[in-house]
Formats: sequence, structure tokens, C-alpha cells
Amino acid sequence: MSADGINLLRTKVFDKSKWMQLPRDVVIGHDVLEQIPAVCEDLTLGESVLIISGDQTRDVAGKRVETLLSGFYDVATLTAGGDPLETIKKAEAAAVEAGFVIGVGGGRVIDTAKIAAYNADRHFISVPTAASHDGIASSRASVPTADGNVSLAAEPPIAVIADTGIIASAPHRLLASGCADIIANHTAILDWELSHRLRGEPISEYALTLSRMTAEILFRNADLIKPHSEESAWIVTKALFSSGVAMSIAGSSRPASGGEHKFAHALDRLAPNMGLHGEKCGIGTIITMYLHGGDWKAIRDSLRKIGAPTTPAEIGVDDETAVEALLAARTIRPERFTILDMGLTRESARSLVKMLYRE
Ligand SMILES: [Zn+2]
Repeated sequence: MSADGINLLRTKVFDKSKWMQLPRDVVIGHDVLEQIPAVCEDLTLGESVLIISGDQTRDVAGKRVETLLSGFYDVATLTAGGDPLETIKKAEAAAVEAGFVIGVGGGRVIDTAKIAAYNADRHFISVPTAASHDGIASSRASVPTADGNVSLAAEPPIAVIADTGIIASAPHRLLASGCADIIANHTAILDWELSHRLRGEPISEYALTLSRMTAEILFRNADLIKPHSEESAWIVTKALFSSGVAMSIAGSSRPASGGEHKFAHALDRLAPNMGLHGEKCGIGTIITMYLHGGDWKAIRDSLRKIGAPTTPAEIGVDDETAVEALLAARTIRPERFTILDMGLTRESARSLVKMLYRE
């Protein structure tokens, strides 16, 4: 028998491979901001640093980071604000001149720093001042444009430093929104499994299990989530981080983003500036959980307990816009198959909104 013939008789050659990017140092807890010089030293990232923060977050933590690092590094600073794309360009130019980049702030600042670091090929350290969504440790960033938010490739953080004291002092609405973003994992996973069964989409059991476990732990601890408590900040920040790791393992946002996220992105376009990312996802999760035949009331009740909105009206969106968003959701990233692709009509969307978003 020829060599080719023998090869044909063998079972399929193993050809799988995977490249995961995870942070190297993760420091979460009380007063950990003070650890930033030690973290930077541990990582040996260069002699100069660009610190990006926001108008308010610079006072909250940015200045402190500048002071802590100024004895050890050449420190350049940039305050993010104004037109997001202009800010990213400025940040990118400044990042090229620096050894590494630190983002100190909320979602917008972290995303700016992450994109600038990616484009300038620099390492990035994430210092979140709020726990409002699971982007604090992920490799994607969302940028608002005239056509709604676009998701861009970005530098995953080499380190995350999350000070629970700072996060607890942020407005509770931000923390509640972060919780809702994690609760959304419940249906993101169901959508992923549905797409796997129906269309053969590859699934990562590790990513899926981690994402599910993260959502379940938060779900069980919903009673502990209270405004301005460091314990709450601790629970939510760990969960957001864990959700980010699930995405890193999967190599995509699939474990934490399904139909409820597509609904939220549709709302970004149809009702710009209404509600926070996690809030919109939480509201969407109620409907997608109902459609999956799951315990949508438990989702709604845990959102309520945490202090997150459960109806479009609570974020200033009328029912008809919510219906439009449910229908438009399937046009966003159409390759990502979800329960909202399973024959939803305008009529059914209307009755869902009416039935599930009653006070
Ligand atoms: Zn999200």
C-alpha cells in the first residue's frame, strides 16, 4: 500500500490550536491602588507610562496613580473626553511615546486606553473606578459612533488593579449595571448552546461553564449587593473579571453576549444615550430567558433586588422602541445566531413587551 493509502486509513490528524490572552497580575481588594508601583515593577514594562483617565476619575484615582508612579517612571497624562474617535487618536499618539499605558476610569476611559495601547503596540494596565460592565478585562472595546457603538479589537490588559474602596464609592447605578451585564450571561450561554445544537457552532465547554458559574454565583449573592458596600464591589468585580476570562478562553464575547446584547446594541442605535450597557442587557435578558423557556421571573426579581431596571420605561425607552430593538437585534452581527432569530414577528415582539415589561 502506498504512503498516501496508509494516511487515508489513519484517523483525522489532530489540528486544533488555541491562543488565549489572559492578564498576568490581577489585584482586587481594599486599598490595592497603592500596589500599582509593585505591579508595574513586577511586569518590567518600560521607563515611561501614559496614564489615561477621565475628567472626574482623574480626581477619584488618576492623580493618585500619577503620584504613586512619578518617582519611578516618566509620567505622561491624558484626560479622555470630547469626541471619542479624536480622543483615541490623541491617546494613540501619546501611547507611541510611552513604554506602557494605564487606563484609570470607567468604561469609556478603559476602552480608550485599551484601543490606544493596541494600536500603539503597548501593554495596557486596567484600573477600573467602577464595576459597570465586563470589559475591564477583555480584549474588545466599544466606541460610540454616529451609527451606534462599534466593537473594536483592543489590547487585553496585562494587569488589572481593582480597588474595591474606589469602586464602592462610584454611583450604585454603575455597580447594578455591572451585575445586570453578568446576569445576561445566563441567556448568552443558552443562545450559544442553541446555535451549537442547531448550526454546529463550535462551543468551548470551559468558557461556557465559567460564564454560567459566574452568573450563578452572582445570582445567589444578589441579596448581598448593596449600594456603596465594599463587599458588593468585591463580589461584582470578581464576577466581571471571571466573565472576561470566559471570553478570553472562548476567544470571543460569545460566552457573555447573546440576543440580550444584540437587543442592547439595537437600543444603542434606536435610543442613543438611554440607559447603561448592562441595564439594557438586563432588560433584554428578561425577554430572551422567557423565549428560552427559562425562569424569566427569577431574572427580573434578581435585577430588581440589585437595583437594576427591569423595563424599557425605567431607562426612558418607550415600548414601541423596545419592539423595534427586538426586531432589529437580528441585523446586528447576524452571524451570531440567537433565540431572537427563531421567528420573532412584530406582533409577537409587541405581546412580549406588553406581557414581560409590566410593572
Ligand atoms: Zn456586556
